[in-house]
Formats: sequence, C-alpha cells, structure tokens
Amino acid sequence: MSRKIVCRLFVVVAALAVVFTDQSALALSRSEIRIPDLPGYTTLKCDFHLHTVFSDGNVWPTIRVEEAWADGLDVIAITDHVEYRPHKDDINVSLNRPHEIAASLANELGIILLRGAEITRSMPPGHFNAIVLEDCDKLNVAEWRDALQNAAEQKAFITWNHPGWLQPNIIPIWYDEHTEIFNKGYMMGIEIVNDHEYYPLAFTWAIEKNITILGCSDSHSPLMFDFDNSPANRRPMTLVFAKEKSAPAVKEALLAGRTAVYAYGKLYGKEEYLRSIFTQTVEIVNPEISITGKGRGFVRLVNHSDIPFQLSADGQADQFTVPGNLTIGAGETVMLPITNKGMLQGKNPLRIPFKVDNLLTAPEAPLSVEFNIVVDFINK
Ligand SMILES: [Zn+2]
Ligand SMILES: [Zn+2]
Repeated sequence: MSRKIVCRLFVVVAALAVVFTDQSALALSRSEIRIPDLPGYTTLKCDFHLHTVFSDGNVWPTIRVEEAWADGLDVIAITDHVEYRPHKDDINVSLNRPHEIAASLANELGIILLRGAEITRSMPPGHFNAIVLEDCDKLNVAEWRDALQNAAEQKAFITWNHPGWLQPNIIPIWYDEHTEIFNKGYMMGIEIVNDHEYYPLAFTWAIEKNITILGCSDSHSPLMFDFDNSPANRRPMTLVFAKEKSAPAVKEALLAGRTAVYAYGKLYGKEEYLRSIFTQTVEIVNPEISITGKGRGFVRLVNHSDIPFQLSADGQADQFTVPGNLTIGAGETVMLPITNKGMLQGKNPLRIPFKVDNLLTAPEAPLSVEFNIVVDFINK
C-alpha cells in the first residue's frame, strides 16, 4: 500500500473515531415494551438489582442506565455488594458513588434511578437488597441485623434476593432468621426470579405472607452478553403498577405489593393484574361469525402487547370444538378455528374457556380466561 493511501486511510479512520467517540450514549435506540397500563396505574418496567465495577460487576454505572434506556425500562437500582468488593484495591470509594455517577445520565434519559446496595451475608440469612436508600455506606456494619435495621431506619425497601441460589436444586429454605426478619417487617419483597433462576416456592411464600414479588437480572456483565430483546430471552424485570412515574410512587407501589414479574416469556402475579393485562391486550377482531353445516369458522384474535400468550383449551364443549393449544405471539393476529358438531342452529352466544399457560397467578396456576362470541350456525 502506498504511503499516500495509508495517509488517507489514517485521516478517514481518525475522522470516524471523532464521530463515534463523540457519542455519549452507547445505545442509539430504545425498544419500547408494549405492556398496557392498569386502570388508575401506569405500568413501569423495572430492574431493581444490578452490579457495577464498584463491587464485582464488569461495567461502569452509566452503562447500566444506557442499557435500561435501550431495553425499554423505566426504573433501575444499582445495588453493589456492601461487603464483597473484589475491585477494592482499584476502586476504594463510597458505595454511594455508582449512584452519583449514573444520576445525571438517568435524569437526562428519563430513567428513574434508585439508590441501592446489596447486604451480602452467608446463608442464613443470605443476600438482601435495600433500595430507595439515603446512604449506602451506613449498611457497612459487622452484624447483619444492624445492617437490615439501618436500611429500615432509612425507610428503604428491603428484598430477600435469590432465595434459592446455591441451595440444593435451587429450592429456597426458610430459616429461623427469615422468620425473625419477616416478623420485624424487613422482608418487604422477595425475588421469585433472579437472572436465569425461578423459585416457585418463593412465589408461594410471597402469596401466603403478602410479600411483594420481584424479578431482577442481577446482572454483573454487560446485559447484551446474557439477554436480547426477544420475548423468550429478555432481561427479567419487575412490572410496577404505580400511581405516576416517580421514585416515591414506585416505592409506594412496592410497599403496596402492586407488582408482577415478567421473565422468559412468563408473567407472574396477582390474578387481577394479569387479567387486566390480558383483557386489555387481546382483542377479538370479529366477535360474530357464521358457520355453515358442520364446517369451521374463524375468530381472529389480536395481541396488542409484546407478551406472547400461550393458551390451552380449558375443556371442550359438546356442541363445538376448538384447538387444544393456541399461541398468540407478540403483536400478532391469529385465527381461532371453531368447528361445529352440528348440534346448534341459528345465533348462539358461545363462551370459550382457555387457560393462559404463561400467565401464572401462583405456581402451577395459569390464568383462566373466556372468549365471548356469537356464532350464527347455518344449517342447510
Ligand atoms: Zn446476591
Ligand atoms: Zn446481586
């Protein structure tokens, strides 16, 4: 290659370098996640458990904000470990710093950033996140009881993290220490999903003891290493049904238990929330159809959300048949075929019951739904 060409190439590369390094944001587009608001509440997509280089993570705090913006999230908390800081020889500063470093970018991008930290003790009691904190450094005390009490005195929202992590078959164990923490009112939330782990038993405890459920990525590496924006492999998140998009409203909703967990194509939460999301999202395009003879008619169902719905027939009627399984993909319209068995004539209202297998109101408890249509059976 001639010197002249090398020289020109250098100029081009240098110019490109200027263009690209001038971008303050790594992510240049945001993928919105279509999940409807609930009556009276705005649905916020949140990840309350993230690490940075300030504990054992591998990313700078502002990257967590950019990832959240790109992934369509509204709220995050950076929750570095209080007691486990392997980069301490290089970064030995206040544990409030990751929040302070990320705060202005979060503000600029409209991401609510909650100050947080992870109280990191051996099991029992294990790891606990405190978010909406005032001062993370105050949690750095010898005794875990004092750390939790200190978080509570700061009016933080406290969550038992990954309760099944490192336990046999990732099944959580509720120790006496957890009863003590619960009785003090410090177990306000519990992760039922952490990273790629799901703890059905923690979901059961949450229902029985009225503990707020959370699903978090607990990410240590850049999120793109582990997740993408497909429904099956999106980062786990907590949906918070808040009175408005603000930090105090998020805390109020967390304390009131108005959450659901969206992880790996499944939605976990109270029946009223899941039903509201489903009924607002799935629309019957043609609720009146006609079927001639023993033929088939088609009801079209459109899914206006980014959550795919996996349905299974909840029993079969004597007069007509429907498919045993039906998936309505994110943003898709599908045909629901209805086959006449020849027993009905004229206009008939039909109620077609389904279970939504990926909407769980408790472990093994899919949401029951019904499609109400009118069929005109034309018998020749
Ligand atoms: Zn942890
Ligand atoms: Zn963690």
